[in-house]
Amino acid sequence: MRNKAVKRKFGKGAHKCIRCGTFSGVIRKYGLNYCRRCFREIAPQLGFKKLR
Ligand SMILES: [Zn+2]
Repeated sequence: MRNKAVKRKFGKGAHKCIRCGTFSGVIRKYGLNYCRRCFREIAPQLGFKKLR
């Protein structure tokens, strides 16, 4: 069996957005796992003020 997922510290496959599933631009701050796109959409709902 060589299908085990390789753990990586950086790069693709490290983390993915739990909302849309993309691997790019995922933000893990605040314990979230959203990409920056989704983060912008959910941030207001989470109590974050609009970022300029
Ligand atoms: Zn996303």
